[in-house]
Amino acid sequence: MALRFHPRLATGDAIMAANAEFALQAAQYHLQFQCSECAYFRSTDRQCMVGWPNDDLMRSPVVALNAVGEPVFCKAFEADAG
Ligand code: SF4
Repeated sequence: MALRFHPRLATGDAIMAANAEFALQAAQYHLQFQCSECAYFRSTDRQCMVGWPNDDLMRSPVVALNAVGEPVFCKAFEADAG
């Protein structure tokens, strides 16, 4: 059986609280991390050009943790300079 790393950082209401705080801070500090701000984002179909799943990184309001408390980020993010 293959093992998979599941870094669940929060559960239940703590997920919503963490996401609410993150959304405030992301707006306050103008953080760029979502697909729509990435050079690999294809606006015609709103997909990732290199094929990464991007549903969590397309949400509005933004989230730091997904529904099960795992962090949401993309290591392949490249700020879109254009
Ligand atoms: S590389 Fe990551 S941040 Fe960029 S579009 Fe793809 S999934 Fe989104």
